[in-house]
Amino acid sequence: MTAAIWLALVAALASPVSVPAAPQHFDALISTGHEGRPASCIHFPTRHCNLGASGERQWTPIVADEAARALRADGFAVAREPADFFGTFAVKAAVFIHFDGSDRPCSTGASIGYHESSSSAAAGLWRSLYTRYFPFRFMPDNFTDNLRDYYGFRQIHASRGALVVELGEITCPAQRQWLAPRLKWEGDLIAYAVKLLIARK
Ligand SMILES: [Zn+2]
Repeated sequence: MTAAIWLALVAALASPVSVPAAPQHFDALISTGHEGRPASCIHFPTRHCNLGASGERQWTPIVADEAARALRADGFAVAREPADFFGTFAVKAAVFIHFDGSDRPCSTGASIGYHESSSSAAAGLWRSLYTRYFPFRFMPDNFTDNLRDYYGFRQIHASRGALVVELGEITCPAQRQWLAPRLKWEGDLIAYAVKLLIARK
């Protein structure tokens, strides 16, 4: 074997794409809509580099950080991921945090997206919890294709459910005003919902 062939063989075996990585195991995955973009987009050229509604990227990390903190404080293992991340995850619950935006302000509100029917119970839990507090419109589940086919679902296996949660419409002044002082509270409510979901038999 020549040195060149040997080096090529070593390079092929060492290539990160030659062997699919095993999923990483956590109790929960919390991913933050649009966080890390646009810098991360170059690594995911087939994805639309959606930067979110105006102000959304500033808010989602506040909610996600608090949700992860609250879960970890109670002993749960949490993968706290930005919008784009590598690899796959096997978890009990996954939440992708967003705020909605619209060209027609106040035409939407809160909503939930999921890909698998096995996540519908998780969606029902979040809806019943959040409607107790959120005083604006709550759209039907999966009311857009983007909610149902969210790219992040492909990297997750979540035994109790994987949800995109849109916490309200950030482009609606009344909703924005209601949401602004409640970002950490939103994180705590998400953590509470994840704990309920994981505790379910
Ligand atoms: Zn978003």
